[in-house]
Amino acid sequence: MTLPKMNRVLLKLSGEVLMGTNQFGIDPAFVLELAKEVKAAKETGLEICLVIGGGNIFRGMAGAAQGMDRAQADYMGMLATVMNALAMQSALEQLGVETRVQSAVQMDQVCEPVIRRRAERHLEKGRIVIFAAGVGAPYFTTDSGAALRAAEMNCDALLKGTSVDGVYDSDPKKDAGAKRYDTVSYGKVLADNLKVMDASAVALCRDNDIPIMVFSIREKGNLARVLSGEGVQTIVTDQAA
Ligand code: UDP
Repeated sequence: MTLPKMNRVLLKLSGEVLMGTNQFGIDPAFVLELAKEVKAAKETGLEICLVIGGGNIFRGMAGAAQGMDRAQADYMGMLATVMNALAMQSALEQLGVETRVQSAVQMDQVCEPVIRRRAERHLEKGRIVIFAAGVGAPYFTTDSGAALRAAEMNCDALLKGTSVDGVYDSDPKKDAGAKRYDTVSYGKVLADNLKVMDASAVALCRDNDIPIMVFSIREKGNLARVLSGEGVQTIVTDQAA
């Protein structure tokens, strides 16, 4: 399928990619490598909004499974996403890329609050806007945050950079015969419960006609390849079966 014409994209990175080869937390050297990929994408002329998860540090569900209050654990997860956003900001600034972090949980000493018009202005000025703390409410994920910001900021696509190179019909880590889709519809993702993003995020993208491009961010140069239509990826759209 032909790729949508893209001027502005939202790039969602799972927190786990910031770990590099570690089992937990942030590997600054690897974050710098990711920042180089983001910088290269920006240099193609795109306006970029970024959302980074927090799973490398804390997930609310994991806390709840160990007996914590779910909402409290989710707030901890949101704080983890702010830490990741600051790490990415630092790496991008090291490369001379101007950025602003806007958090859905207000913390004035650290970053800006989410203000859409202000974010628009940052993008106009060539800055990358990193949206932290998801939607700012428990019981959501940063996938939903990414879908919300993509809609709010009129992004042409949501690019989900993760550890796998697309959407499969079964878990490729467990099933050697798992088949990767080139394109797949929002409806099939939701009906078959395919592992792309959580259902509320997929539904928000469907309702706002935002294609989701799922690809591996771990391979060097892959983001640029995906953007030029040459990468390995799955596109979730209503133009697929
Ligand atoms: N979180 C939340 N509301 C949001 C976004 C995130 O409560 O709007 C919490 C939730 O606990 C989640 C954690 O932050 O598990 C980290 O985000 P996520 O799991 O989406 O990170 P990723 O899997 O992308 O690394």
